Amino acid sequence: MSADSKTERTVSFGFEEVTETEKVARVKGVFRSVASRYDLMNDLMSAGVHRLWKHDAMNQVNPQPGERHLDVAGGTGELARAFLTMADKAGKRRGIDRSATAIVCDINDAMLEAGKARADNEKFAGRLDWVCADGQNLPYPDRSFDAVTVSFGIRNFADREAGLREFRRVLKPGGRLGILEFSHMTVPALQAAYDTYSFNVIPRLGSLVAGDAESYQYLVESIRKFPTQDIFRKEMETAGFLGVSVTNYSGGIAALHFGWAV
Ligand code: SAM
Repeated sequence: MSADSKTERTVSFGFEEVTETEKVARVKGVFRSVASRYDLMNDLMSAGVHRLWKHDAMNQVNPQPGERHLDVAGGTGELARAFLTMADKAGKRRGIDRSATAIVCDINDAMLEAGKARADNEKFAGRLDWVCADGQNLPYPDRSFDAVTVSFGIRNFADREAGLREFRRVLKPGGRLGILEFSHMTVPALQAAYDTYSFNVIPRLGSLVAGDAESYQYLVESIRKFPTQDIFRKEMETAGFLGVSVTNYSGGIAALHFGWAV
């Protein structure tokens, strides 16, 4: 063990404790491995329900014409496309002819490449950008965006506090932060069935569809290590977000934390 790794803070990578540097490297490995099958696996694992969660989350973020949106850990760009679509609809309804713009920012170039290859990006030519960067150290000036979103990404951060600080820094005053993440069941009677599905079915599905059981084992373990709805709400408040609300989806399998920047 080097002197550096002796002193570096350790964090959870699934059920293992690793240094922050190791977590960043291993998370990159997970998403490089699953990138080409990522969208398909999401649909299979959740029977498509993740689309409803994302749609409701984006409704709460309430995209508007002319706004600048940053989707951190944006992967294949689903939320950014949803933001632009909803902003266009809102513009049409109100007769406002100003285009919103969105940036998909992700630490993993393989996920971005899988997203860039999607045909439905054509509709958003010139206003959907792809940037490979770390959400804990964003390459943008202060007060740059009207809305920041993160879906199923913050669980993978080595330093969540640094991420929240960055989201607040790049948001304009009055800007919105929406964080959609797997969370904790609010219906105790369903916990045993959910655990059985998570630990027995998901890694097998990962093996069959993406040729990678280990990455999906990490997925289910990392969900269990993520803080409860209440604790994460407090983390957002400590980072300076106001009016933080929590919306549980599917009995708490996922939750949206929404807050306002000042
Ligand atoms: N947001 C997309 C969605 O909802 O489909 C992708 C979610 S995927 C489960 C998690 C993403 O987080 C991966 O693309 C991964 O590369 C990205 N990620 C993990 N740590 C990151 C970090 N520190 N900064 C930026 N992206 C990160």
